[in-house]
Amino acid sequence: SPVQTVALQEVVLAQPRGFCAGVDRAIEIVERALTRFGAPIYVRHEIVHNTYVVADLKAKGAIFIEDLADVPAGATLVFSAHGVSQAVRQEAAQRGFQIFDATCPLVTKVHVEVAKLRREGYEFIMIGHKGHPEVEGTMGQLDDGIYLVEDVEDVARVQVRQPERLAVVTQTTLSVDDASSILAAVKARFPLVREPKKQDICYATQNRQDAVKLMTSEVDVLIVVGSPTSSNSNRLREVAERRETAAYMVDNASELKAEWFEGRQRVGLTAGASAPELLVQQVIERLRALGATSVRTMPGVEETIEFPLPLGLGDRSMAEA
Ligand code: SF4
Repeated sequence: SPVQTVALQEVVLAQPRGFCAGVDRAIEIVERALTRFGAPIYVRHEIVHNTYVVADLKAKGAIFIEDLADVPAGATLVFSAHGVSQAVRQEAAQRGFQIFDATCPLVTKVHVEVAKLRREGYEFIMIGHKGHPEVEGTMGQLDDGIYLVEDVEDVARVQVRQPERLAVVTQTTLSVDDASSILAAVKARFPLVREPKKQDICYATQNRQDAVKLMTSEVDVLIVVGSPTSSNSNRLREVAERRETAAYMVDNASELKAEWFEGRQRVGLTAGASAPELLVQQVIERLRALGATSVRTMPGVEETIEFPLPLGLGDRSMAEA
């Protein structure tokens, strides 16, 4: 049999990776609501798209629902980090729930922009992935006049009523490269289109994709810790694949397969914005068991952004004091 000359040696950690400020805040909102008001706390949709986080909060007394019809009168309800449509917001208010909104402030910013431009008479093209809850929430800020495009082909097909008064918004967790080519197609077809002042793609998505780009030339394979439903985690895997680096996404260490590392010396490791660092550390342990002897972290952007909690749940600086 052939002699195996190359074996797994080094783990290279992407920087930054894992939790963003919006995810951190969303999880903290559910945990604080559980502490203050006791179980159960109802959460509309997975608070963030991570299997481990959702299971952990379930064990602590959170109940995840998709339909408000499944929430009993008098309940405390949390909206997930992805945001909700106006219809969901109104129904929840009408039913009198105590509501804590864990919508990421960077998603809310897009909602506010859509409402403002609508008052100025704009229609919208939204660049995003059909069926993703953030897209449903942002599209659902309006009853009509907002059209989804998922790719360049959709841009050629989309029918708008007002090409002369049209604005673009995007999902926050897109591929930066895909979004710019789709945006270029929108601008080519609708030259008067109004672009977002600053891209709607959030700092965390941008930084994690940049970090993967920086490491692909240094690693033989990339592991992304993230759940299948996580948009930004899937994009990290694609970023590596497009640079011809083999890449796999795993929900946790048990999903790693020894054959992925055969004949490969250096493995890159990152995590989506909703994946806890604990899971990354467990992957490192498994990679050590498979032969890795060293772990090094790439240089990268230091993220210091932190979002305030909603009223009624205390604030972090006081909790730490
Ligand atoms: Fe907010 Fe970006 Fe994190 Fe989504 S990925 S929760 S938009 S910071």
